[in-house]
Amino acid sequence: MVKVVVNKEACIACGVCWSVAPQVFELDPSTGKTRIKEQYRVSDSDTESVGEVPEELREPVEKAANSCPVGAISVS
Ligand code: SF4
Repeated sequence: MVKVVVNKEACIACGVCWSVAPQVFELDPSTGKTRIKEQYRVSDSDTESVGEVPEELREPVEKAANSCPVGAISVS
């Protein structure tokens, strides 16, 4: 599994990750920031959203992380 962490404090809600990897990332309406979709979500707070995705989604998730203008997405 691939661990994905979104730093919601850093996220500027530009929407890039939602379009690059819509399977994994979505808008959290309560904070206006990105969160991990429920299917892959491990935990979610106002400051951080953590998920685990299968290996086959590593490529789009890494692409989203590399495309994030503020480096708010970590993949490991
Ligand atoms: Fe937030 Fe980065 Fe996603 Fe833009 S690409 S919405 S800044 S996590």
